Amino acid sequence: MQFLQRLIRTPGLPGQEGETAELVAAEMTMLGYADVGIDAVGNVLGQIRGRGGAPAVMFNTHLDHVDVGDHSRWPHPPYGAEIHRDCVWGRGAVDIKGPLAAQVHGVARLIDDTPPPGDVWVTAVVQEEIGGVGARHLLESLDTPIAVIGEPSSNTLRRGHRGRSEFTIHIRGRSAHASVPDEGVDPYRVLAGFLRRLADLDMASDPDLGTSTVVPTLIRTDQTSANVIPGEIWLTCDWRRVPGESAGAARQKLQAILDASLIEGATGTVEVPSFRRTAYTGVAVQIEASNPPYILAADDPVVVAACRILEPVIGPSPSVGVWQFATDGGHFAEAGMACIGFGPGDELLAHTVNEHIAIEQLETALQANEMLARELAAATATAAGESGSSG
Ligand SMILES: [Zn+2]
Repeated sequence: MQFLQRLIRTPGLPGQEGETAELVAAEMTMLGYADVGIDAVGNVLGQIRGRGGAPAVMFNTHLDHVDVGDHSRWPHPPYGAEIHRDCVWGRGAVDIKGPLAAQVHGVARLIDDTPPPGDVWVTAVVQEEIGGVGARHLLESLDTPIAVIGEPSSNTLRRGHRGRSEFTIHIRGRSAHASVPDEGVDPYRVLAGFLRRLADLDMASDPDLGTSTVVPTLIRTDQTSANVIPGEIWLTCDWRRVPGESAGAARQKLQAILDASLIEGATGTVEVPSFRRTAYTGVAVQIEASNPPYILAADDPVVVAACRILEPVIGPSPSVGVWQFATDGGHFAEAGMACIGFGPGDELLAHTVNEHIAIEQLETALQANEMLARELAAATATAAGESGSSG
């Protein structure tokens, strides 16, 4: 609890997680984790060495959080970590400092006890909120077959989510004085046709994750004057895609309706934006605005094993759902890890001014993470054997 309060009182927007990383690394060292370290982009890693004979498991959260906005709209100070009605309040309480504290302290309960069968890693990465710089970098050095993603799930299990791709619809017309529209090629006329077709677009669907969605979000033009028809427009579209639907396929669909919307003299392309991100350590990387979707089958050995392990902690027949939002789990799953999700806190409070977490949920999560760290690797192998699957 005190660790969570110290975390909330240490702000760390994406790219500014240095102090939070030091705090997490110091806590891991104090608790007795092995090989505590901070990598080139600033991710924190700690390990509990296993006896050997079972696959490694990674527990993962992130260090950064979204901005707090106007402090006066918060019922309690966003960086105060005040306790009211058995809840800890503040930015990051559920996303992600509550789950982070519950992983670091829950897994630490294995230290000085019989070592788990396989190695257990606890990692907290940078820049999850802006595309996953930390997760992408972590995959260069750490490759465990199983991962537990600690994003808030109210202590229920999660087995996937849709992915997120960002596209820029770039329309080029010809600028003109607003008083003589016939002299120009108005890109807004193309945009109007595009938006109408976008609303009617045939979307892919998935039995577990529902349908893909796409919405326009940001818009800008090449003009700042109110009396000029712009020559160019850039519209950002946010596409939530299901497994089996590639970013390339989504882009082609957008290009097709853009082509169908063109008027004489106008051209249009669909672009995948890429961003240069600088870590607090000074390392800079270029990343595409794309987070992969993933889904584990309901009868996947890791899901079955996690349900069995958690029954004594969270009750019989634990509910297993999916997240609405994307997580770093997509990057890990794309690299071949079997990712389950489990974390304390109500996900609907994430990114809001009412962010708070029940102390009771934190305590349950400590116990759940301890049990998962102890048993998940071996129980997965057993479940795989029972179902006759080779994994
Ligand atoms: Zn998060």
